[in-house]
Amino acid sequence: MKIGVFVCHCGSNIAGTVDVATVAKEARKMPDVAFASDTMYACSEPGQDGIIEAIKEHKLDGVVVASCTPRMHEPTFRRTVERAGLNKYMFEMANIREHVSWIGKDTEANTAKAIDLVSMAAAKLVHNKGLTPKSFSVNKRVMVVGGGVAGIQAALDCADGGLEVVLVEKTPSIGGKMSKLDKTFPTVDCSSCILGPKMVDIAQHPNITLYTNAEIAEIQGYVGNFDITVNKKASYVDWEACTGCGLCTEKCPSKKSRDVFNEEIGTTTAINIPFPQAIPKKATIDAEFCRKLTNGKCGVCEKICPTKAIRFEQQDEPVSESVGAIVVATGYDLFDHTRYGEYGGGRYADVITSMQYERLLSASGPTGGHVKRPSDGKEPKNVVFIQCVGSRDKSVGRPYCSGFCCMYTAKQAILTKDHMPESQSYVFYMDIRAPGKMYDEFTRRAMEEYGTKYIRGRVSMIYPMGDKYIVRGADTLMGTQVEVEADMVVLAVGAEASKGAPQLAEKLRISYDSYGFYMESHPKLKPVETNTAGVYLAGCCQGPKDIPTSVGQGSASAAKVLALFSKDQLESDPQISEVDIKRCIGCGKCIETCPFGAIEEIDFRGMPKANVIETICQGCGICTSTCPQGAIQLQHFTDNQILAEVNVLCQQTLQQSFE
Ligand code: FAD
Ligand code: SF4
Ligand code: SF4
Repeated sequence: MKIGVFVCHCGSNIAGTVDVATVAKEARKMPDVAFASDTMYACSEPGQDGIIEAIKEHKLDGVVVASCTPRMHEPTFRRTVERAGLNKYMFEMANIREHVSWIGKDTEANTAKAIDLVSMAAAKLVHNKGLTPKSFSVNKRVMVVGGGVAGIQAALDCADGGLEVVLVEKTPSIGGKMSKLDKTFPTVDCSSCILGPKMVDIAQHPNITLYTNAEIAEIQGYVGNFDITVNKKASYVDWEACTGCGLCTEKCPSKKSRDVFNEEIGTTTAINIPFPQAIPKKATIDAEFCRKLTNGKCGVCEKICPTKAIRFEQQDEPVSESVGAIVVATGYDLFDHTRYGEYGGGRYADVITSMQYERLLSASGPTGGHVKRPSDGKEPKNVVFIQCVGSRDKSVGRPYCSGFCCMYTAKQAILTKDHMPESQSYVFYMDIRAPGKMYDEFTRRAMEEYGTKYIRGRVSMIYPMGDKYIVRGADTLMGTQVEVEADMVVLAVGAEASKGAPQLAEKLRISYDSYGFYMESHPKLKPVETNTAGVYLAGCCQGPKDIPTSVGQGSASAAKVLALFSKDQLESDPQISEVDIKRCIGCGKCIETCPFGAIEEIDFRGMPKANVIETICQGCGICTSTCPQGAIQLQHFTDNQILAEVNVLCQQTLQQSFE
């Protein structure tokens, strides 16, 4: 075998602390290495051309590139060797940047470790064999999970691009948080006026099937061919028959149900339509509060419904859908402010969250857009806003910035003055973060044009005084303690991962960070892709972001799906497991262990044997370590290949100990 080794400088990233010329020189002495050199940027056009020329000139059978992480450039170099006529699996990568130069400063030690890694890669390459991907067909339908503004945008862009879309939303209506907002920064335009038409487009688009009040129960399959079970939760109303007339909601005697849309300022009826612009505009019964469903008495809605739509016997219903790609747009939830004892821990009626305040500001809200104190219904005069409640605070496990709270607080201060010209707003803040287009100008307007008083410092406590509240905090710019008398306090609660996000991630087989936000494949270059092929992200499920960025990601993920579906056939990764039928004793251990259900039992001349289903196997390799017979091997990572790497490392360590 003739191997070529190319050691990359990566500018000074590697060459700064690794003697790359020595690594190349030592590589020339390694068994089977016919050519070795160092190169400034192996991934650049001249770098790749150099590899191609060397393959041709020295008639190389395989190539090792010692450079950065394979996650980024393995596909690049595989394409390079393919262009020179080699099978792309006759290539190995030694990561001497993330695993060497970026983690150590000692050039001598780094160089020695880089030589070890190159020799291991070369030893493995000797055992590589050319692999051929198989082609399979693509189901050109897409599922969007989550019907907030990001999911709505993704669904509409895919549908307008000619794809069949299945949109699954867990609450009874699409719209997400944006449907609860009064106005939006920085233009202060009406949220429902810009979101409403998009919601209607979803309902009317011929390419979109909408399931609301529904969640993903199970996902099987792989890119191009996912089989998904959607659980349609019982609404106890036949939505085909329901016309959304709302008669039932007027007559229902059970009025203590949670008003989720209005952030539980007050209550609603057991049978309800979440809000006037809901899509679909259908009634749903909250079983916990329905008198008929809890104790068998009542049934008023059943008697009154003009279309006889009530179905107390309705059960959850599983529905099967097959799609080729999935866009996840499950958004975020709000931090539970009751965790802050110093802000009253939820005990003070007029200390409310920013989203509750949005509902008080909104004409479709419980007070018809008149800001009133929940405690006594009076209009507040002094409104104090406290930023970073559950953001940038390690003590509550939320060290990150929620991104949009500075901006929506400025918006709410502006709207407060618009609603109540005699009012005075105060904002306690840590820093103002307003990096978007026209954002900084917007916060300045809140201060200069609307007279909002900004106090830089944290609030140490809120306590009631008569029918008012005293907000005590530090003014760190003045170096003094301040106390502000407030009629109402609005807590700018931060964003956290949507409830159930980790469980959904496990079904989708995508990664999530320690806060539960989904991980993109690459933070800069693949911001809407995940590490699972065919699964894309949009909006706040990946981390907090404002509406323009969420919409941008919705469109970006749709573009990715359209690009994926531009081909009729996809190639499967041949790095999957293979069973040696002669060694297999049919014990079934691998079948039990495979997390993807990719191994089946087959009958081979009357004996049970394991068989890998090529299209389902993800190449995780778990089965290979389970098989007591060593009968199952992962292509490209066989025992021989891994042991070759271990052997050469042991030999080198032994040799060094004698020197
Ligand atoms: P979401 O709006 O959270 O939507 C996610 C959807 O997915 C929801 O409908 C949810 O029910 C659904 N879902 C969740 N889990 C599942 C599941 N497992 N299966 C199916 N469906 C699921 N931004 C601005 O740009 N301008 C503003 O003025 C503004 N004001 C704001 C005011 C407040 C008080 C707050 C808290 C935020 C504000 N924002 C504003 C930010 C804005 O809310 C977000 O940018 C936007 O809602 C993100 O949209 P999304 O679709 O990613 O998430
Ligand atoms: Fe729907 Fe019947 Fe209620 Fe009207 S009365 S909203 S048709 S369930
Ligand atoms: Fe309301 Fe009675 Fe209908 Fe239940 S049965 S939703 S309590 S009207």
